[in-house]
Amino acid sequence: MPANDFREIGHKLIDNIADLLTGLDERKVTPYITSGQGRELFGTEKPIPIEGEDPKKIVADIYDLLSENSLYNGHPRFWGYITAGAAPIGVLGDLLAAALNPNLGAWKLSPLATEMEVQSIRWIAEMLGYPIDCGGLLVSGGNMANFVGFLAARKACADWEIRKTGLRSDSARPFAVYASAETHTWIEKATDLFGLGTNAIRQVKMDSEQRLDTGHLRELIEKDLQDKYLPMTVVGSAGTVSTGVVDPLREIASICREYGIWFHVDGAYGGFAAVADDVPADLKGISEADSVAVDPHKWLYAPLEAGCVLVRDQQTLRDAFMFHPVYYHFKMDEGTNFVDLGPQNSRGFRALKVWLALKQVGRGGYRRMINEDIQLSRYMFELLGKHDNFEVFTRNLSIATFRYVPSDIKDDPRDDYLNKLNEAILVKLENSGEIYLSNAVIDGRFLMRACIVNFRTRAVDVEAMPEIIARYGREIDKSMRPDMKELSD
Ligand SMILES: *Cc1c(COP(=O)(O)O)cnc(C)c1O
Repeated sequence: MPANDFREIGHKLIDNIADLLTGLDERKVTPYITSGQGRELFGTEKPIPIEGEDPKKIVADIYDLLSENSLYNGHPRFWGYITAGAAPIGVLGDLLAAALNPNLGAWKLSPLATEMEVQSIRWIAEMLGYPIDCGGLLVSGGNMANFVGFLAARKACADWEIRKTGLRSDSARPFAVYASAETHTWIEKATDLFGLGTNAIRQVKMDSEQRLDTGHLRELIEKDLQDKYLPMTVVGSAGTVSTGVVDPLREIASICREYGIWFHVDGAYGGFAAVADDVPADLKGISEADSVAVDPHKWLYAPLEAGCVLVRDQQTLRDAFMFHPVYYHFKMDEGTNFVDLGPQNSRGFRALKVWLALKQVGRGGYRRMINEDIQLSRYMFELLGKHDNFEVFTRNLSIATFRYVPSDIKDDPRDDYLNKLNEAILVKLENSGEIYLSNAVIDGRFLMRACIVNFRTRAVDVEAMPEIIARYGREIDKSMRPDMKELSD
């Protein structure tokens, strides 16, 4: 690309992005298109161009098409799943990272970029109250971060040469892993991918607040020891994906110490809330974990993708991942070679976008922003609780669950009807592009769920929300109610 074209396209693009980001609130959260329409609009099935096209035109056209037809998780009224908008400084970071294009597999291929990742790991550890001399690395997201912790645990726990013989060995005992039912689905993927099979998961019961029941955990461990299983790891959640509950991490830590079991914390959602003020004291228990997964692309607002895993003892990552191929001449005393600490070989410069944001706002900035999200969630819960048409259920960290209930059946709420009604409202809301929620299912009840991991959300957005939902609720209830009558006849 001629240098002048690059400059011109780049300047124009930055101007467009700046306008886009400042005008998000004037757009819909998401366009209303079906997958078929999307395929047609984009021309998914067109063949590869025979001859290339003018880059100025391609970039301009694709900007228009994408900016008109994207879901904006950075929109102030996006509260679905646990998906955050990108910090503008991270957007710039990704641009610079791509331009420099260092390979963070080895120190000598990326000297200062590697130092930046090492420092980011230390800063993240500081935020979590985790030992700063820990090991760790950036990965693609929470799943991968949990996988790396899981593999470190698997290696550390096996008393045979598992990396050589695999799970089958004369002295091998079958592994058992412990987690509550609210644990994110990565645990199923991990047990499957890494050869244990999902039967290795012991589902620990939960108490009335949906926290992992440590009494039951003990019973399960005792039983497995009697039956000659090898307890590999206990997974505690620092903010469950569905309702944001923090498990009793300190108690789990002490049980793990007692039995010599690896303690892993999944803090992909709530880990960074450790810097906030009004949060469960158990977040402090993160400091006692052998490994922790967090997700900078959630509450640190890094553009996708950025996950991070920390391990108490750096050597456990080397033990789990290092090999010495003849074609690599990376010396350990040369600095950190991340290829030795995780599953990836070539690695991109994820650290830049994470580091820039940490540097821009500091610990104090994150504390304020996360506090604000939690306060907004409280405010939302309060408004919904006061509103005639809502029944509120849970609120933990920045996740609120609730459902729409027509006022005339509030005293006699029928779950089967309300489940259908709320599901229909949710679909309608999503298509409207006005606000974006997702759902939770608690005790068989289909609930709406709002998760605020969003630095653009303001009180006005929260204040507008109940009436937007209630408007669709009344409309849909009216059209669905005749079916309900039939059901009860
Ligand atoms: C988001 C999340 C994950 C998965 O993280 P990804 O970044 O989507 O891979 C795992 N566990 C919890 C608790 C999460 O919130």
